[in-house]
Parts: sequence; structure tokens; C-alpha cells
Amino acid sequence: MKKIYAVYNGSFNYLEDIKISPLSRAYTFSDSVYEVIPFFNFKAIAYKKHIHRLQNSCNALGISINIEAISSEITSLIKNSRLENGYIYYQISRGIDALRSHMYEDSLDEETFGYAVEHNFNSQTLKVSLCEDIRWQRCDIKSTSLLGNVLSMNQAKKDGCNEVIMHKANLLTEGGASNIFFATDDCIYTPSLANNILPGITRELLIEEIRNLGLNFEEGDYNVEELSSAKSIWLTSSTKGLAQVAEIVNLNTNLITNHKLFLECERSFNNKYLS
Ligand code: PMP
Repeated sequence: MKKIYAVYNGSFNYLEDIKISPLSRAYTFSDSVYEVIPFFNFKAIAYKKHIHRLQNSCNALGISINIEAISSEITSLIKNSRLENGYIYYQISRGIDALRSHMYEDSLDEETFGYAVEHNFNSQTLKVSLCEDIRWQRCDIKSTSLLGNVLSMNQAKKDGCNEVIMHKANLLTEGGASNIFFATDDCIYTPSLANNILPGITRELLIEEIRNLGLNFEEGDYNVEELSSAKSIWLTSSTKGLAQVAEIVNLNTNLITNHKLFLECERSFNNKYLS
């Protein structure tokens, strides 16, 4: 396998040669945040928005960072990996404890880690399972604490699914690693950010495209019944782009493959970011 180009605490190295402490708070508490920055044709997609969200995540945890230094590491990872299409995974933890302790010393130095990996952005269709959203109340933070997502997605995997769609007491929230859009014959809908979801960058970029196209669009609170009567459902993320849902294994739907509103969105998004 090709070696993966990486960086740990500012030193560039191959991933397999990086050694970390078991007392990293990322390891003991998931006291850490992350970002996934896609790049296509050697160029980052929505770079500023990703850096801005990374800064917001650190602010939410009270971790102070040198965003210029981090930004230049991310740029170097993209450049020096020499990969044409891929993404950067970048993680920042609060630091390394002397001994595991919930309450941390203020003197800790943040710990940073990133790598570049190849990825193809070919469109995919998804088989998903609908499940209760069992996560915490701060899903707006891009934290590495993803146990709720991990449990739900791996339960769904047993049914041959590659994603989940979550709802909190019948109100739609998001996918396990993506945001939800759905369409009727004449309007596109997505749960609003007030529904305790991650402010996805792809979600934001797509909303800009939908507005540019002048399509009917609403952000709000939607329930499972509304999803069930949708003509098209798709999930968005930095690595998936726009991925159509072909089937929800535990919900009756009337989905049409390649519905015109999905195709308009996909064409516009792919022309702008993936060509
Ligand atoms: N929601 C969740 C829970 C996610 O993990 C992701 C992907 N990281 C997204 C939404 C999509 O966000 P983005 O478009 O910024 O990749």
C-alpha cells in the first residue's frame, strides 16, 4: 500500500511512523475536534469555510490554536502528497495529560495531527436505515466523540446499509456522517441547523447553488412522514458530495431514481466543485 503522508505536532512524517501518547486526551476522552477538507484537481474545495469551522470547533472546546500554522500544514499536506483528488483529515486535541483526569491542566499544549489520503468523488447511491438519534446536545461541534454515530451506523451495516438517517422523536436531524436533503415534485427541503446537527459545508455550498438556480427551497423542522412521502432523498458530505438514497430499509417510500430536482442540484454542484 502507498505510504500516507501525515503531520503530527508540526512534524511531517509518514502515518505509519508517527507515535502518540496513550495519555492524549483524544485517546482517553475524545477531547478533540476534527475537520475533513476535500481537494479536487489538486485544489481544496471551500478551504476557507473548513478552516473557519475548525476554528469554531476549537473555540467551542476552549482550545487555543495557531490557525495560520495549522492552515499552512493543511496546504502543505495537499501539495506534498501530490495527490490529484483526495481529502485531508485534521484533528486537534486539547493535549496530553500527565495522568488521565477529567479536569485538565490549563498549561496543556494542543496536539495536532493530520494526513492526506486519495479519494474518488464518483457519485454513489446509498442504502440507508432510519434510526433514533441517540447523540448528545452539541452535534453542532465537529468533535471526534462520535460514539452515537458509530453505534447506529454499525447496527445499520448489519442490514447491508452504508448510511443512516436519524430522527429525534420523529423530527429529522441528519445522516450518520452527512446532512439530509429531500424533495417533493416542486420543492427541496433540509432540516434547519436548529435541529442539533453539524453545519455541513457541502450542505452550505448546495444551499447556495439551490438559491442560484432559483429552485423552491425550505429549511425547517420535518418529520419521518414527510420523508416517507418524498420523491427524492439525498445526503451530502465533503467525501460523498451529493449521494442519492436508493432505499430506506425500514421505511416505506416512493422514491424516483434521478428525480429532476436532484439532477439539477447534482449537475450544478458537480460543475462548480468537481470538474
Ligand atoms: N453531519 C455529520 C454528522 C457528519 O459527520 C458530516 C461529515 N463530516 C456531515 C454532516 C457533512 O459535513 P460536510 O459537508 O462538512 O462534510
